[in-house]
Amino acid sequence: MKSQKERFRSIWLLLLGFGLWAGVVFILCLTADRHLPDNIARRLTEQEMREVAERNSPLIDYVYLSPNANFPRKAPVCKVTVHHMADELTLEELGDVFARRDRRASANYAIDTKGRVALYVEEDNRAWTSSNRENDDQAVTIEVANDRIGGDWHVSDEAYAKLVELCTDICRRNGIESLEFTGDASGSLTIHKMFADTECPGPYLESRMEELAAEVTRQLKKTEN
Ligand SMILES: [Zn+2]
Repeated sequence: MKSQKERFRSIWLLLLGFGLWAGVVFILCLTADRHLPDNIARRLTEQEMREVAERNSPLIDYVYLSPNANFPRKAPVCKVTVHHMADELTLEELGDVFARRDRRASANYAIDTKGRVALYVEEDNRAWTSSNRENDDQAVTIEVANDRIGGDWHVSDEAYAKLVELCTDICRRNGIESLEFTGDASGSLTIHKMFADTECPGPYLESRMEELAAEVTRQLKKTEN
């Protein structure tokens, strides 16, 4: 009989322990949430939009801030990383994806096939885009929509032209004097496939990375004069 009583006691202790542990986890989650800025995953007021535009690119057409980020990033911005959506999502649809905490993914910016620009993670913060914390701490990341699904993962001329413009603007505001594509992670222009087993940003964009770096650098020099 005594041993049965003891068994009951250990079960109760176990349940109590589990309850306490769950409580601690719950409180930790609440505390972690409190560290998120209050402008996440909701429509911003006009005043907030103006403030966000002042802190980031003036090229933005749409803002829907993602909780999937580190606030703030741990290193100064000295790189740009290009991705493709592997899809033809609108900026609003991608914003809804990045607003879901269970997706654990985001990007600083995205460009749609018409060349419109969205901001999902402010430049001061680290987006979760490139499967590499060190890169994303230093990089502003950009998702570009595809206008053809599969194959070479083509992007529209409008999207590519806006990519040149956005990269130039990011470099200028962050003091990056030239954009260099070295083909590995040491350059100031990086791509997702340098860090993970992925085709991202797809053969089409990848084939234009040297050209992108050269064009942005040319624009930066032009602005200096
Ligand atoms: Zn990617």
